[in-house]
Amino acid sequence: EKEIPKENNVAKIKVVVRKRPLNKKELSRKEEDIVTVYDNAYLTVHEPKLKVDLTAYVEKHEFCFDAVLNEYVTNDEVYRATVQPIIPTIFERTKATCFAYGQTGSGKTYTMQPLPLRAAEDLVRLLHQPVYRNQRFKLWLSYFEIYGGKLFDLLSDRKKLCMREDGRQQVCIVGLQEFEVSDVQIVKEFIERGNAARSTGSTGANEESSRSHAILQLAVKKHNEVKDSRRKIDENDSKSGRVVGKFSFIDLAGSERGADTTDNDRQTRIEGAEINKSLLALKECIRALDNDQIHIPFRGSKLTEVLRDSFVGNSRTVMISCISPNAGSCEHTLNTLRYADRVK
Ligand code: ADP
Ligand code: MG
Repeated sequence: EKEIPKENNVAKIKVVVRKRPLNKKELSRKEEDIVTVYDNAYLTVHEPKLKVDLTAYVEKHEFCFDAVLNEYVTNDEVYRATVQPIIPTIFERTKATCFAYGQTGSGKTYTMQPLPLRAAEDLVRLLHQPVYRNQRFKLWLSYFEIYGGKLFDLLSDRKKLCMREDGRQQVCIVGLQEFEVSDVQIVKEFIERGNAARSTGSTGANEESSRSHAILQLAVKKHNEVKDSRRKIDENDSKSGRVVGKFSFIDLAGSERGADTTDNDRQTRIEGAEINKSLLALKECIRALDNDQIHIPFRGSKLTEVLRDSFVGNSRTVMISCISPNAGSCEHTLNTLRYADRVK
């Protein structure tokens, strides 16, 4: 059996950048790769620019993060560098969150998709270890989406959900379905089901999903009595067990969507404004966390309100900022890196 590295001193906030390779289209257009990663922690962006007399020159931007993953790094290595060290802390009352941030097409979904599956695998393995075996711990999964400031359950026909606070800083999403997952195959099926239910909008275009935040949560709960594992129950059903810790995996809306606030289409403008608000609020909350501020500005957006209980107490946050390497994405890449820099 593989050992999960035990790391007791996992950083509270970790900011990681992942560069994807040039894709076929970019290669066929002979686009330049303007991002160079070195020492797994630094990167430079060579921004192509023009002088007033139209002579070309390059402006160099340098950044440093907790980790910078180049285009050769596999998803498995991403898992080991970001999520895995936090896994054992979930049993010690930790609420962890892993975000993928970046422009549409930068690799957020590619990066996020395998993470909950690998996490579930490790969580299930830990559940069965002798230290935890007699504690009646169980793993629960839920999957929902925030679209235009509204919540939809991805595992129950996109049922619209609302949020309630219980006065003890616990957020509950009324009606959100949670499912007990005892093996990884089931987790995989739920993830696929949820993905199929993600927002496609009226156009049916896949790119509509870039306007929504997808939130998959794995919660470890302690149960007092043996339950029928196939029974669906409500998150606020007190009989369903007490949450010990949880891990939220968030595939954020495309960061460029936050700029859709001057679009001709009214709906697009509303969504753009909501995305802009939520990404700003997220940055503010993580910064407040990092400064050990007592007051965390959750109320800035639906996204941060939903994550409220993950920002208090024993929390861990991993931000994976995804960037495209091509010259044509330079402006978005710099925006993403500046955002990540502010969070750090
Ligand atoms: P986003 O979710 O940010 O819009 P995607 O995850 O859908 O972006 O990635 C866009 C495309 O690039 C997809 O076809 C994906 O398979 C590919 N891709 C992204 N990151 C990588 C990577 N690290 N290695 C190989 N292909 C990648
Ligand atoms: Mg995506």
